[in-house]
Amino acid sequence: MPAKTISPIEVYKFLPKTNCKECGEPNCMAFAVKLVNREIELVKCTPLLKDEYKDAYKQLWEMLKPPVKEVEIGVGDKRVKIGGKYVIHRHELTYFNPTAIAIDISDDMSEEEILKRIKKTQEFSFTYIGTTLKLNMLALRSVSNDKSKFKEMVTYVANNTDLPLILCSFNPTIIEAGLRVIGDKKPLIYAATLDNWREFLELASIYKCPLAVFVPNDLKMLGSLTKTLMDNGLSDLVLDPGTIPKGGLSSTLNSFTALRWKAISEGDVVFGFPIMGTPITAWTCMDGDVNLKAWWEACIANMLIIRYADLLIMHSLDGWSLLPVTILRQNIYNDPRKPVSVEPGLRVFGNPNEYSPVFMTTNFALTFYTVKSDIEVGKVDCYLLVVNSEGIAVECAVAGRKITPESIAEELLKSEVDKMVKHRILVIPGKAARLAGAIEDATKLRWKVVVGPMDSSEIPKFVINEWKRIIQSV
Ligand code: SF4
Repeated sequence: MPAKTISPIEVYKFLPKTNCKECGEPNCMAFAVKLVNREIELVKCTPLLKDEYKDAYKQLWEMLKPPVKEVEIGVGDKRVKIGGKYVIHRHELTYFNPTAIAIDISDDMSEEEILKRIKKTQEFSFTYIGTTLKLNMLALRSVSNDKSKFKEMVTYVANNTDLPLILCSFNPTIIEAGLRVIGDKKPLIYAATLDNWREFLELASIYKCPLAVFVPNDLKMLGSLTKTLMDNGLSDLVLDPGTIPKGGLSSTLNSFTALRWKAISEGDVVFGFPIMGTPITAWTCMDGDVNLKAWWEACIANMLIIRYADLLIMHSLDGWSLLPVTILRQNIYNDPRKPVSVEPGLRVFGNPNEYSPVFMTTNFALTFYTVKSDIEVGKVDCYLLVVNSEGIAVECAVAGRKITPESIAEELLKSEVDKMVKHRILVIPGKAARLAGAIEDATKLRWKVVVGPMDSSEIPKFVINEWKRIIQSV
């Protein structure tokens, strides 16, 4: 049964119905609603873990499990979860577990180069609308087909990072050499094929590691091999239907889409595993210089993120190629049920004094971070009152009455900014100009309202050209 069609009543039937509140919810029905919306985990209902509810727990677990299995790679805090998807379309619920991005390291690289790539992968960090965008894993490739070289490289990498790892080779002897070093760190083994699957099945079973299944451009055979591996006891699988850049992009996208469709819409358990793509193939299959190849790689990565990729292996470490990929991932994987917002309240920038300006904005995250960035770049010492607009931008919040003169006055009072400044002047965004008089009335004329710039990038100029004059006239 697709998860989205489960009703809270169906879930409620299996709960203990004691309303004991141990889960942190006021009653069992509230817990059932959160379970259906995937906002709480089943294990939070501790009474359910008792022996008397063993069958009910099992039933609920089966009912609520995602049609695309969640697979864990790595151990400890940095371990990565991929898959765990419930819906085809993001707006039907939300996508869980953002696409993991792995950067490759190969055994023909010098130690210096390997260390540089590890550091760059670990240190990649970009703040976007209040979220830190990061890379997640390293993919260790054997290009020499020499097991001692591979083992040496795996050892060196494992000693220098705690990021989850992927061991890449179609040769089982090579993979075994790597597993002897890091088998206990639960790396992803890449990959079982139609030729080597028996040996890979054995390795994945012995070391209890997740296994990628690679059959390019042939979903029937991919399904058949996956079923064979499942029948032989493997349950943590990752499907790679092939990433074919030159002349094969449309079939690549079709394969990714068909896989996810079969898993979620048709409930085919053989295809109910995370999907992985290898945009890195742009480096060997596409013509052109390094920049063009990195550009192709980023384009392919973006296409695959949109088409359900749960894991990608990439080569480029250039910010210009990784930034669009990580930003797109963030945009796809934020929760459409929740507005992208920040906490309302007062923020302090720089070292404001009693005569510094008090600006106002809404709590729509994109607006807030744009205003914040403009204030910081302009090195403006000021206060910023962030008013709750339910995550709506200024102009729409005014039009839709998501901010009102009363709510602004209330936030102003709550902030106690009047204890921090001697003046009583609130600078509102130009786009909220029509509320100016009404805000003054709502503050019982204790505050004067000045209409500030239409665009927050003008704030630094406004402070230099206007604020001095305004504050001197008080
Ligand atoms: S812990 Fe379980 S039994 Fe107790 S209120 Fe929550 S859902 Fe109900």
